[in-house]
Order: sequence, then structure tokens, then C-alpha cells
Amino acid sequence: MRRRALITGGSGGIGAAICKRLARDGHIVYVHANRSIEAAADVVAEITAAGGEAQTVSFDVTNAEATRAALEAILNDGAIQILVNNAGIHDDAVFPGMSADQWHTVINTSVDGFFNVTQPLMMPMIRTRWGRIVNISSVSAITGNRGQVNYAAAKGALNAATKSLALEVASRGITVNAVAPGIITTPMSQATFDAETIARMVPMKRAGVPAEVAGLVAYLTSEEAAYVSAQIISINGGMI
Ligand code: NDP
Repeated sequence: MRRRALITGGSGGIGAAICKRLARDGHIVYVHANRSIEAAADVVAEITAAGGEAQTVSFDVTNAEATRAALEAILNDGAIQILVNNAGIHDDAVFPGMSADQWHTVINTSVDGFFNVTQPLMMPMIRTRWGRIVNISSVSAITGNRGQVNYAAAKGALNAATKSLALEVASRGITVNAVAPGIITTPMSQATFDAETIARMVPMKRAGVPAEVAGLVAYLTSEEAAYVSAQIISINGGMI
């Protein structure tokens, strides 16, 4: 069935792949961006050229008021039934050298961003008695990672929120899961990992690609995944 889907960070590497995949699966896709509005417009153009339906939406997920206003405009056309909280940043530093700004920016984007986007969409979703929420987490939250105390804390909070929200809405036809990628080839990871490091860290000796993450998200947002909820699902080439 055709659903309305919002993918935050649709202008980024993984988000764009999720947008394209969900559009291919027949959904109406809102491709979200913050700064990279042109990149989001390119994703929309690609989707529409392939016969799909999509439009851009832009707001800073850390700005509660701007987020609420943008979501209200979307909700005027009906409930969002598929939400992928994918917007995220990392700003790495070993902990003794980490600034308060690095701590707060990373936490705010993932954790406040989760609240600001998800909370206003919940009641309309609940009223439809059908929903899929996927939070994009990280292997760092499961294993820990040197230099990423802020990022691991942010994604760990997302994992805990995933489980609790899943319990609240389980009886309403809504599933809530987290996907925890390992190293996926995007601009975010290319600045961090060289080929030698990837070969050392990943048993499959390669980075994943965004389309592989999108395939997992497509399953979790499908009709057939109705009984999968409150899970943190890893996709990491066998890292853990
Ligand atoms: P990108 O840097 O390519 O994309 C990040 C996206 O997040 C962009 O679309 C960006 O929007 C958006 N974003 C960042 N800050 C904000 C904000 N304040 N408000 C709204 N949107 C914001 O990263 P990836 O595609 O690699 O990562 C996507 C998700 O996957 C992230 O949550 C990341 O933590 C997670 N992840 C990535 C891994 C990897 O190896 N790549 C591994 C594990 C997890 P814009 O550019 O428009 O400003």
C-alpha cells in the first residue's frame, strides 16, 4: 500500500538512498534537508524522473519551532505513516579534548532532533492505526568507539528511545526499530576511514553502500515487517 514517508537527512548519502528506495516501493516521499537543499532537489528530480512521487522539505531538526511549523504544513495533507530519523552528525575528539559545543551539537542533532520530528507526527500516525518508525543509529552505540563519546551517547539514547516508544505504540499497529550501520560509504565516513582501516575493522573487508542500508529500511517499513518492533538491527559486514 502507498504511504506518506518522511526521511530526515534525505540530502545525505544514506538518506538519499532510503528516499529513492521507498519511492521505488511506491511511497510518497518527503526528502528532507537542512543546508543541502539542492542535493534534496536532485533526489526529488531523480525520483520523479523514474515515475515516483516526492517533494523536498527543509528545516533544522534542532530548531523545535521551525521543525513543528514545517511538520504542520506536511500534516495538513494527512498523516506521515513512515518516518525515518536519519539526520545526524558526528564531531569526533578524544574526550579530554572534547568541547562543550562538540558534545551538545552532536547530542542535540540526534536526540532533540528525534523528539522534535517524531513527537508532532505521533498522534496523527496513531489515529491511522498503522506506522513505521526507523531510527538510524550506529555500531558506535553498541561497541563504543574512541573519539566518539558524544556520538555513541547520542546514538545510544536513540536506541533506548526506540525501545520505549515501540512499547508505547505496539498495540496501535506501529513498529519502532533502530538500524545500526557499521561503515557505509558516504561523505561522512570517507573523511574518517581509509581502505586499510576498513580492511582491519570489517570481516567482509569492504564498506557497506547506502543502498544496502536502504534495503533493510525498506523491509522494516514494509507491510510484512509488522511483527518486528523494538529492535536494534545491525548492518555492518560482520563487525560485531
Ligand atoms: P551525511 O553527512 O551524508 O548526511 C547527514 C544528513 O543529516 C544530511 O542530509 C544533513 O542535512 C542532515 N543533518 C545534519 N544536521 C542536521 C540538522 N541539524 N537538521 C537537519 N538535518 C541535519 O551522512 P550519512 O548519510 O553518512 O549518515 C546518515 C545517518 O547515518 C546519520 O545519522 C549517521 O550518524 C548514520 N550513520 C552513518 C554511518 C556511515 O558510515 N556513513 C555509519 C553509522 C551511522 P544537510 O546536509 O541538508 O544540512
